[in-house]
Amino acid sequence: MSLSSLRLRFLLALTALCLAAMGALGLIAHFIIHPALLEEERMLAKAELDRLERTMDSDRLALLAMVKDWATWDDTYNFMQGKHTSYTKSNFSRIMFEDMNYQFMLFFATDGSIQWTAGIDPVSDAYASCPGTVGACAWAENTAKRLRPLVRYRPDEGMAYMDITPQPVFIALYPILRTDESGPPQGWLAQIRLLDEKWQAHVENQTGLPVVLRSASQEDLRQGLRLDRPNDHLMTISRPITRVPGSESLLLQSHLPRKDFFTQLATFRYAQFWTAGLLLAVIAIVLILLESMVLRPLRQFATFTQRLQTRDDNLPLPNGLLKRRDELGTLAREFQQLLEFQRRQTSSLVELSHHDPLTGLANRRLFDQRLEEALNLTQRRSQPMALLMVDIDCFKAYNDHLGHPAGDVCLKAIADTMQSQFSQPLQLVARTGGEEFSIILPGSSATLANRLANSLRLAIETLGLPHPACEAGSVTVSIGIGHITPEQSRSAQELIDAADAALYAAKQAGRNRVSTEGEQVTS
Ligand code: GH3
Ligand code: MG
Ligand code: MG
Repeated sequence: MSLSSLRLRFLLALTALCLAAMGALGLIAHFIIHPALLEEERMLAKAELDRLERTMDSDRLALLAMVKDWATWDDTYNFMQGKHTSYTKSNFSRIMFEDMNYQFMLFFATDGSIQWTAGIDPVSDAYASCPGTVGACAWAENTAKRLRPLVRYRPDEGMAYMDITPQPVFIALYPILRTDESGPPQGWLAQIRLLDEKWQAHVENQTGLPVVLRSASQEDLRQGLRLDRPNDHLMTISRPITRVPGSESLLLQSHLPRKDFFTQLATFRYAQFWTAGLLLAVIAIVLILLESMVLRPLRQFATFTQRLQTRDDNLPLPNGLLKRRDELGTLAREFQQLLEFQRRQTSSLVELSHHDPLTGLANRRLFDQRLEEALNLTQRRSQPMALLMVDIDCFKAYNDHLGHPAGDVCLKAIADTMQSQFSQPLQLVARTGGEEFSIILPGSSATLANRLANSLRLAIETLGLPHPACEAGSVTVSIGIGHITPEQSRSAQELIDAADAALYAAKQAGRNRVSTEGEQVTS
């Protein structure tokens, strides 16, 4: 396949198109799909962190509801007034704290002092229930100190918030009122819940997501939502907590599976793979169609025109091309018509260059050509051959008397007579001079030629074309015969010279007669 062939150029163009399309698909994947999937993953991370924060906040509000339960209860109210002496014994136990997920409770009197502490030491895990923050409950003093300013502010309604020092906790505070929420407050009850591993397990149980709290750096706070993708399976998502009061410098962290991302990526790659496959198939089909509908017929056409250049033997265009109903068919039919027109032109030019316009007989050029061929043929076949040279008698005088146009008419009449006498396939009558003709008779012996010549001479005489300046009274011809026997080998010129000499002899002998070379002229 040469570089300039249409097939290769189409193949190259379509391959380039295919590569460009694949490249475009790759660019789409890289610049559109991949970022979109990452953005979707980011949205998912945000939604999941929102969900985690909502769960946290509902825990905060649940603690507030529970502290309210305890604080607006006549038993607690009476206990704060010193009236309910069995209150601590009947309500507080390690099991109760563990079951209710409280770490500990602080009962603040109205002056801000701690009236009772009950719960589990977050550090030593020892349970204690004691008045104030002394002895076994000394560990609660730090928290009491932190809450005291709030109590001094004498809040008349509950609050719940997150504290992160020394560890993340929920703190809920409520004024101690009667069950019917009437006052005046007898102090404030604080409940503390640790946001420890147990709480993390509870959140994971509720949300299905692992959760970790850690303190946020300045960079974390600045960055906001952050996604770390250490591997293809899992990503770490983190964001500073915003919904829960008191949590401003805490980072909420979780892990999300990247299944969706890779599933969607795989789906896209699958689609991409099939698109590429389809593209290849389309290109292959286009090439096959192009080959069968355009290129093959074009090649047939090209082969045909090349064959025309080497041998124009009236080859017809292939039928398949001519019968097509498309543009190529039209082109082939137009081409065929042009070809036929050109062939007709050529053959009429050949005809013109080989024939004499006045008589329609072969001219000198064709005569020379045919004489050579006839000599070769008869020599190959070991046949005799004869050449007649015919000259109209006293034709100058004919012209002089009757005029040139009449001379032309006479020439034509004599030519027709000769043509009708010698119409065998290999015989040729030619006008070789003004009023001189030559007749090639392949296969004719001298005797046969003599008979034929005499018959011609007689036929012309019998035409009876009046000749005012001739002895015979009508137009006659003299004929010289040159001949070759199968044993002889003669050139064309030798044969012509022999016939010419015989003609001369016929003229000399008185005209209107036949003379054969090497024989005596008879009248
Ligand atoms: P001969 O019997 O010896 O052949 O005498 P001739 O007069 O026929 O011979 P000559 O060679 O003297 O004259 C030939 C004449 O043929 C002269 C010329 O005018 C005439 N001729 C040649 N070609 C044409 C032609 O095309 N048309 C006409 N009308 N005459 C022609
Ligand atoms: Mg003459
Ligand atoms: Mg002559």
